Amino acid sequence: MQITSPAFKQNARIALKDASLQKALGNLKAGFPVKRAQAVARLPEFDALRDEARDLKNHILENLDIYLEQFENKVVQQGGQVHWCRSSDDACKTILDICKQVDAKTVTKGKSMVSEEINLNDYLEKNGVTPVETDLGEYILQLRGDHPSHIIAPAIHLNLEDVSEAFHQHHHRPKSDDPAVLMREAREVLREQFVAADVGITGANFLVAETGSTLIVTNEGNGDLTQTLPKTHIVVTSIEKVVPTLEDMTLFLRLLARSATGQEFTVYNTLSSGPRRESDQDGPENFHVVLIDNGRSDMLGGELQDMLRCIRCSACMNHCPVYGAVGGHSYGWVYPGPMGSVLTPQMVGIDKAALLPNASTFCGKCESVCPVRIPLPKLMRHWREREFEQHLSPRAVRYGIGGWAFFAKRPRLYRLLSQASNLALRLLGGKKGLIHRLPLGAGWTDGRDMPAPSGKTFMQQWQAKQQAQQKQQQSPQEQQS
Ligand code: SF4
Repeated sequence: MQITSPAFKQNARIALKDASLQKALGNLKAGFPVKRAQAVARLPEFDALRDEARDLKNHILENLDIYLEQFENKVVQQGGQVHWCRSSDDACKTILDICKQVDAKTVTKGKSMVSEEINLNDYLEKNGVTPVETDLGEYILQLRGDHPSHIIAPAIHLNLEDVSEAFHQHHHRPKSDDPAVLMREAREVLREQFVAADVGITGANFLVAETGSTLIVTNEGNGDLTQTLPKTHIVVTSIEKVVPTLEDMTLFLRLLARSATGQEFTVYNTLSSGPRRESDQDGPENFHVVLIDNGRSDMLGGELQDMLRCIRCSACMNHCPVYGAVGGHSYGWVYPGPMGSVLTPQMVGIDKAALLPNASTFCGKCESVCPVRIPLPKLMRHWREREFEQHLSPRAVRYGIGGWAFFAKRPRLYRLLSQASNLALRLLGGKKGLIHRLPLGAGWTDGRDMPAPSGKTFMQQWQAKQQAQQKQQQSPQEQQS
């Protein structure tokens, strides 16, 4: 996937004018956040579970090597193989090698954001292996040559008409706008692919160290067919997904579905523990886990470690006013929204993604809904600081911050300047108290009027408040003297 994060502003402008996208985003805002709030209200211990999940994830990250080795040993004991991959290239090559070993021509795929991260589909296609996405949203995108715009609802940017048109063009059947007909059509086409595939590739929501199992959650059941029907099952996943025990996994599952879609539990929760045994009725003959690092171990022990707690629920983007206005494609890479604004600079470089940590109002909603309490605004601020240090921010911003710092270090001068600015802005606001054009602030006033300050500066109000409090505390005699 080509990175367009440096063009975030242009992408966002186009997205804001795209009526079809705006309609689709309207559905998102009316859906997931409302359902999450209802699910949370039904579970009084939700906040206590969030604390527990945060602490458990922190413990796992501090002992990541131990749990990953335990996981690997269990997988091997059960007849599977674990492949450790430092980079996207390593992972793609490893997966292609496995496909070649079994002479695979077609692979079915369950939804996996990690496979998007490593650009697996393009790599396989270039090397003569055809990937077929089986998650309905991903399947629609593949037909359209499109990319996910959301981590759990990849085609959220599309409307029914878009899906109807894509199916009509590719399935060569009469056009329909009945969702049930479209679903049946997709099911019929995909059934043939499930049976024909030589390899099934899925992601994993969690890896269980005590049992050597991988788990995926889906609402469609496509993951089950992807991993049980082909002779070879490859799980492509990343190192931070490991949890110590099955019981620990259930803690995260209770939070994941509620935070994501507002469900109590996702419909299918499927565990894979190695290849098929003699007593099993079905299952793959070969089982591989491709464990990807891709910059994650660099985050351990550093300022971004908290981000490794992420369980990819999407709550932060579902509640983000910026994501809700411009959609996922504007962010220009695999992970959108607040979590993407932290992860993308880490994975593709701050020089290519400097605009993303700035695409935030810092309203704090993302942190307030995150089930593992990731301090997303703080982590975005970390990137803003790196951006400033590396002189990646526009010159006007750097000079502006430099000027502000000069005055902030000289309180008297700062107060005088604040008072003068306050007065100037009030005059600029005129009788209506609205500023239509602000010098150096066109980014704000081009789209809306800015209210002029209505009274005294913060410092003046603060001093007045302090004086009033002191007066109240004085005895009547002191006040008279
Ligand atoms: S950062 Fe938190 S809210 Fe966002 S996807 Fe990850 S776990 Fe969910």
